[in-house]
Amino acid sequence: MRAEDILYPTEMGLYCAPGDFYIDPLRPVPRALVTHGHADHARPGNAAVMATRQTLEIMAIRYGEDFTASRQIAEGTTRLGGVTVSFHPAGHVLGSAQILITPDNGPRILVSGDYCRAPNPVCLPFEPVACDIFITEATFGLPVFRHPDPIAEAARLLASMAEFPDRPHLVGAYALGKAQRVIALARAAGHHAPIAIHGALKRLCDYHVEQGIDLGPLVSATDPGDAQLILAPPSAFASPWVQRFRDPVIAYASGWMTVRARARQRGVELPLVISDHVDWPQLTATITELAPQEVWITHGTEDGLLRWCEIQGIAARPLRLVGYEDEPE
Ligand SMILES: [Zn+2]
Ligand SMILES: [Zn+2]
Repeated sequence: MRAEDILYPTEMGLYCAPGDFYIDPLRPVPRALVTHGHADHARPGNAAVMATRQTLEIMAIRYGEDFTASRQIAEGTTRLGGVTVSFHPAGHVLGSAQILITPDNGPRILVSGDYCRAPNPVCLPFEPVACDIFITEATFGLPVFRHPDPIAEAARLLASMAEFPDRPHLVGAYALGKAQRVIALARAAGHHAPIAIHGALKRLCDYHVEQGIDLGPLVSATDPGDAQLILAPPSAFASPWVQRFRDPVIAYASGWMTVRARARQRGVELPLVISDHVDWPQLTATITELAPQEVWITHGTEDGLLRWCEIQGIAARPLRLVGYEDEPE
């Protein structure tokens, strides 16, 4: 069986014909396999959903227990129609997974979803999996994207807090993954005082703690006490919420903070380059390590990566999927 007959893009997302399932579908389908809980990948309303236990639990937190009629926890290998599937850690957010599709006859296809190779204290590291076709995003698919050491970025945050002890530091961070990672990084860099969190971050922070991830003392941003470090989702910065803080330092944790114009646009005084996606060196090193016969690119800035693959002698093609760039960065 040819790869193009096993998995191909449709307007609902990637469809595996011999297995009769969609991966991260954009609209409700009979059977969805979901890589991780970000809203652009995990949507409610599918009749059946297979994902890691943590991704299923995160979907239930975000959408309610009735987000699907049938949950299936991905464990080991599972037979679905004419293919075998298995889930492997992606290093992106808690519960995130790559999905390997193995047909009886034909190429092994690895759908990486969103993934990251930098150490992340709030999730399992990316697992390199042997495959023939590697399907990757290219969110930061240009050589200009080189993300610094996240611990060093946390140290910059703490240095600013020490320099301006009377100014609250408000950090914009997405609710799933980024917020908890920033907290864990601040702890690792030596900040042990209570950290205040916006109400929109509470349930997912609580869930990380339940899953054994130590975030230290957290208090509500409505009653922050002496907490100098306050985290909120990016949307809060465009609302009156931000006006309750006097003379704040506005920070934002995102891979896009390498682009100074984006930081300025958002009025960010302290841009923190903390990304849950691979940067260019990680992306190309991953392809070199996995040595697939072909690379398929789901979305992002694919031109640079297509050219790089061509130079390396690896066949590559863009899938130009739309609808997957909303949440994480
Ligand atoms: Zn994504
Ligand atoms: Zn994501």
